[in-house]
Amino acid sequence: MTDERAARLILGLRRQGVTDARVLEAMERVDRAAFVHPQFLDQAWEDSALPIDCAQTISQPFVVGLMTQALEVGPRHRVLEIGTGSGYQAAVLSRLARFVYSVERYRPLLAEAEARFKHLGLDNVITRHGDGSKGWPEQAPFDRIMVTAAAPHEPHDLIAQLKPGGIMVAPVGKAGSQFLHRYVAEEGGTFRRESLIEVRFVPLVDGVAREG
Ligand code: SAH
Repeated sequence: MTDERAARLILGLRRQGVTDARVLEAMERVDRAAFVHPQFLDQAWEDSALPIDCAQTISQPFVVGLMTQALEVGPRHRVLEIGTGSGYQAAVLSRLARFVYSVERYRPLLAEAEARFKHLGLDNVITRHGDGSKGWPEQAPFDRIMVTAAAPHEPHDLIAQLKPGGIMVAPVGKAGSQFLHRYVAEEGGTFRRESLIEVRFVPLVDGVAREG
């Protein structure tokens, strides 16, 4: 049943322009059902975002596919993800990269995601409870950075944690109207930027969540 649903979702992603075979394979292999709330199990393989705890969301598979494809992750890469959330995006990245460093500001979300990584044997995901808008300076520089919450402004602190030639994908803009930006870092601290599609993400919020 799940296999058939997964195959249908993957076909849909391919039709929408997610054509990178490694990305599609990673998404087919990571069981999204393991990352959603039990009450949404029947929608786990549908192409839609779903609510998770702490009023956050697990992203729409098409957006996960597009962002992962745009990141051009290689098997030796160290990737920083901001916004662990359910852990789904980190799990997809973990199949493509050497190490995934993922930061989340809600402790309860992080604890659940960590339990999922452990259960699935994803031992190359390294997590941290903290404010991801500052990146992870102790582990920088990174080959790739993926931001899965909307930054209100160009996230310069994060771009600064990329290696020259490194790529970052991040939604940038106000609530309700953001564009997915792709940055390529250059020697000397400059960068190139292109805009991919319009997206809707939960906001990147400064500081660690008090609730968690
Ligand atoms: N990548 C997640 C999507 C989660 S939604 C997934 O695959 O499920 C965005 C997440 O970013 C939320 O969990 C939110 O709490 C987190 N977030 C928002 N601002 C943050 C910040 N400054 N530092 C770390 N995490 C943050």
